[in-house]
Amino acid sequence: MKKGKMIILSGPSGSGKTTISHCLLSKFPDLKFSISCTTRSIRNNEKHGRDYYFVSINNFISKMKKYQFAEWEEVYPKLFYGTLKKEILRIWESNKHVLFDVDVKGGLSLKKQYPDNSLSIFIMANSIKILKERLLIRNSETSYDQINTRINKAKKENLSAKKFDFILFNTDLFQTKKKAIQIVHNFIYGK
Ligand code: 5GP
Repeated sequence: MKKGKMIILSGPSGSGKTTISHCLLSKFPDLKFSISCTTRSIRNNEKHGRDYYFVSINNFISKMKKYQFAEWEEVYPKLFYGTLKKEILRIWESNKHVLFDVDVKGGLSLKKQYPDNSLSIFIMANSIKILKERLLIRNSETSYDQINTRINKAKKENLSAKKFDFILFNTDLFQTKKKAIQIVHNFIYGK
């Protein structure tokens, strides 16, 4: 089995992880995005098999029981997300490195399982107020309740930031992208 490297991007929903992840994927052709399974419903701009594998709860549980996940979490109440072991292998088999966009618990779990070949980066929004504004603008959350669930989770997640190899404070997106590119470049190709 081939074994490549992995870059774990974690941080609260709305911190800018997805934007940073797209930036890294466009900059490094050797990186491939790990497509997670989720039981949440598909958003307008999303595509099955590109953004996520959208699966039913029964399907998710069946994969869980067969130990097909490298990690999985109930990220929000009754909403499950998980990284398939075969997704990691698929990417390594194609001689690429893996890029994960996962929640903080999932990120720490991956770091623990792959300590030798992983780089973990925590993306931190500069304030909870800005995080809330971003989530409202994104408008992907259908209700204030769901936004508040994400905000409360973000507050808890920020407490785990120091467990990651790097923390990037996303105050200026241009600068954050620049730093992320530098860190990932050093990790993949050496200084
Ligand atoms: P969203 O619903 O906004 O796409 O994602 C919600 C959260 O779930 C984000 O923090 C995202 O990083 C996280 N997430 C996505 N895929 C996975 C996964 O496979 N495992 C875990 N633990 N979290 C994930």
